[in-house]
Amino acid sequence: MGRSWPRWGSASRMAVACAMVALLALSGLAGGAAAEDIPTPEEYTAHVGGDAVITLPGALKLDGQSMVCGQRPTVLDSQLDDYGAAYPGFLILNPRLLAKVSPPVKMWIYAHECGHQFRGPDEETADCFAVQRGRRQGWLTPGGLDEICHFISPAKGDSMHFAGSNRCAYMRRCYEDPSIR
Ligand SMILES: [Zn+2]
Repeated sequence: MGRSWPRWGSASRMAVACAMVALLALSGLAGGAAAEDIPTPEEYTAHVGGDAVITLPGALKLDGQSMVCGQRPTVLDSQLDDYGAAYPGFLILNPRLLAKVSPPVKMWIYAHECGHQFRGPDEETADCFAVQRGRRQGWLTPGGLDEICHFISPAKGDSMHFAGSNRCAYMRRCYEDPSIR
């Protein structure tokens, strides 16, 4: 196996690793983001092999719902080491892991990765984007937010990143906040 590109963090409970890849991505962007540091969906899919496939913008459905993130495609990769991830320009989802979570958690993961597309590498900002989008689009109820908080609750916080419970508190504030961040 050759290279692995630094990617934006994921929505999952792997908070520490998530923050680290976010920092790598940020430093890459700050340095002018050499094109070879950001794969295209085609390069990514060829690199990981396996069953990875590209779904075109607007073609993805989760639990019967169309998922849209502007004009960004989504790569479905069941070998991804996480539920979801993002590079500038496309999202990655692991359908094998997503099958294990409830519809609102699934949609929140997609929306979190979409948040990185429009708001950059910061994890809390991506979380906030996701819950506000869910509220606006009607798929995220307070009960669904509880499911998301339960999903991330095993995360351990450290100096690099919020603990799962702090992420959750921040998301609850965002969910209640009528102004979009
Ligand atoms: Zn993330």
